[in-house]
Amino acid sequence: MDCLFCKIIAGEIPSTKVYEDEYCYAFKDINPIAPIHWLFIPKTHISGASAVTAENADVVGRIFTAIAKVTAEAGITSGFRVITNCGEDAGQTVPHLHFHVLAGQPMGWSAESGV
Ligand code: 5GP
Ligand code: ZN
Repeated sequence: MDCLFCKIIAGEIPSTKVYEDEYCYAFKDINPIAPIHWLFIPKTHISGASAVTAENADVVGRIFTAIAKVTAEAGITSGFRVITNCGEDAGQTVPHLHFHVLAGQPMGWSAESGV
């Protein structure tokens, strides 16, 4: 499958690893929009949030468990944001489910900007 994030998981495209377990892989975003900007992705290919089903949803809980663990271990105590963009209007550019984790600065809130 010609999927950028599947290639990153396979090590065919280099990335800066933040965390890895049986179910998920996390790495630094190549174009960070906050001092901390990580991407958490399932090791199985799921095209996005709209493709989560009762059969594959377990990995979403695993990813959020990993996010809680990694942010705590990184000493992020003042908060973080988790975002998943799904589809064209949301600006999804990579069709492999991913959760942006943003931290390291106070963040506003609007539909136009994640930060
Ligand atoms: P989306 O726009 O789909 O929500 O997020 C895709 C994210 O993947 C973007 O923030 C973009 O910077 C990041 N990205 C795209 N290609 C690469 C890559 O080759 N390596 C890494 N580390 N991040 C990437
Ligand atoms: Zn994929």
